[in-house]
Amino acid sequence: MKIALIAHDKKKNEIIDIAKVYKDVLAEYELYATGTTGTLIMGETGLSIHRMKSGPLGGDQQIGAMLANGEIGLVIFLRDPLTAQPHEPDVSALLRLCDVQSIPLATNKSSAVIMLEALKNKTF
Ligand code: PGA
Repeated sequence: MKIALIAHDKKKNEIIDIAKVYKDVLAEYELYATGTTGTLIMGETGLSIHRMKSGPLGGDQQIGAMLANGEIGLVIFLRDPLTAQPHEPDVSALLRLCDVQSIPLATNKSSAVIMLEALKNKTF
């Protein structure tokens, strides 16, 4: 299964924390990320990640295209709900496609932990 990891700038520390704690779980899957998020997680954890373009430069749309093709099985997208994003239409489109395809989507740390625990316990 392919997993997508994305975090807005103010949430990057949180996704790095999660990736460190669940490194062994994540390592069992094929990981994709937007550019900056992927670079940071790789640098902090050593996980191997396919990196798309940076989110504001089209990375969210690239992940969205994969979702539309049914290629992604789970998305962790730690959104910053308090900061306006220049690529908000791309963000909304990605979230919408998760719902179109009924793909599990975590938009905050607590939800991400629940999903990763499910993967860890093989209950998803
Ligand atoms: P980034 O993109 O990982 O390249 O920062 C994330 C986003 O803002 O969608």
